[in-house]
Amino acid sequence: MLIHLATDRHRRTYHNLMPARLSPSRHLQIGRSKAGLGLFARVPIKKGQFVLRYSGRKITTEVADRLDTRYLFEVNSRWTIDGSSRRNRARYINHSCRPNAEVYFVKHVIKIRAIKNIKPGDEITYTYHYGRDYFDSFIKELGCKCRACAKKRAELRKSRRRTRARHK
Ligand SMILES: [Zn+2]
Repeated sequence: MLIHLATDRHRRTYHNLMPARLSPSRHLQIGRSKAGLGLFARVPIKKGQFVLRYSGRKITTEVADRLDTRYLFEVNSRWTIDGSSRRNRARYINHSCRPNAEVYFVKHVIKIRAIKNIKPGDEITYTYHYGRDYFDSFIKELGCKCRACAKKRAELRKSRRRTRARHK
């Protein structure tokens, strides 16, 4: 079956449909997020649905240790996926402490699926289980940028302000 996407009206109708199988280039979009760039849904994604694969070269962890990139995904103590290619859309997924997706492995293939229903326009996030090095280099200084942590910090600031006000 051929689906034409020539007009906006068609496009809108099409985007309101949940595709049975997501195509990373058509159904997901790279965009601005709080933490720089992020990956966003263009279509509704159902809880449990496969979203995309974290793709890249499979290299030994020994080789990976010598690379200077933050887009390394360790499969096990022996193998790592080098996801630094821009074709790997999954590299744009940001960390969240309250994510809507999760990583799972099928043998040495890294896959990402939704753990909540995701609406068009929502940013796709999962919880990074980063090693200490990653945490020290990228997170420690600036703090976690995820929405849940930003909200927590804002509430903390507010309650601190309130405490100060009471002590005046
Ligand atoms: Zn967080």
